[in-house]
Amino acid sequence: MSWSDILLPPAVREQLAGLAAGAERNRTLLLSGPPGVGKTTSALALGLALNCRQPPAPGDFCGACLSCREFAGWDAVQAQLEQALSYRQEQVRTRAKEAAPLQVRLHPQILYFPPDGDFLSMAQAREIARLAYLRPDPGRHWMLIVPGFDQARWMVQNALLKLLEEPPPDATLALLAVQPAELLPTVRSRCLAIPLPPQPEPVMAEWLATRRPEVRADDRHMLLRLAQGAPGRALSLDLADWRARRQTLFQLLQATLMTSHYDRLFPLTENLRLSKEEIEITAEILYSVLQDLLYLKSGRSSAIQNSDSRERLSGWAREISWEQLELAVEQLDRLLRGLRRNLHRTLAWDAWALRVRMAAAGA
Ligand SMILES: [Zn+2]
Repeated sequence: MSWSDILLPPAVREQLAGLAAGAERNRTLLLSGPPGVGKTTSALALGLALNCRQPPAPGDFCGACLSCREFAGWDAVQAQLEQALSYRQEQVRTRAKEAAPLQVRLHPQILYFPPDGDFLSMAQAREIARLAYLRPDPGRHWMLIVPGFDQARWMVQNALLKLLEEPPPDATLALLAVQPAELLPTVRSRCLAIPLPPQPEPVMAEWLATRRPEVRADDRHMLLRLAQGAPGRALSLDLADWRARRQTLFQLLQATLMTSHYDRLFPLTENLRLSKEEIEITAEILYSVLQDLLYLKSGRSSAIQNSDSRERLSGWAREISWEQLELAVEQLDRLLRGLRRNLHRTLAWDAWALRVRMAAAGA
């Protein structure tokens, strides 16, 4: 196990190994990119490299020393996160959230702070600062990973400014963000920005064939398209689940764009009374469908993601106007921004369907 076993853009891998090998190891990194592109993996690997006792090369990690063996392995990370979150649900029934800030220990020195509820909490921010200023054992180095920092409330981002500016000598912070532009400018200016670009399709194809050999070739092709260069997505995406959710969205789109039955929209949006995570997934599917309609309308049918529904989408692409499509994308953007500010969820979907429908009627 070393950097070479991890699928990351070579330039990013070199930069991170360089940080681990360098003298100035206390940093705040801002790792950004789409979900599944490798932000957590990068931070985790850097944490291992910063703690490795016998690096095979400067800035690398061996996978065999005392420190490396304390990491349960890449395949265990997802299960560790899920376990921590379900334990959390039990825990908050009997205790105040503030009493035990949510954190997941992936290694004695590598801690991960998933949003507690919808966002990173103030109690978690305080815990991050407390840990960072604790001196670890000699030769050890804190790696504190904060996913979704772009969605943290500004008050919470502000609370960490001083720490981000100058982490103590034995601590590295990794802030992960899908939309770094949504961070406070004062946060961005204090971080070393490391954007993670998507992987090229041929690289992903070769890698996916070894990681998910059980997937049929045509499904693998669709997975590659849906993953959009994000290895984590290609690994975790459940095609059956995707198709089931998409079916509901197809009905919603059909009703919204093709008919004038307003009354049919509401029972459909009822089905979309979803949790925040589910809304993100649903929106992602809807984006992919709208994107495909744009591709089909502009004659780039080989680029579509939902390649198993080509016929249906081609039919729609012929009937939908450019204006309707543009509006649907714009409204979806607006819906997501609203949802992140906790708009009433079902109402928001109804509003989306209605606005698009009204534009269709006017077109
Ligand atoms: Zn090691």
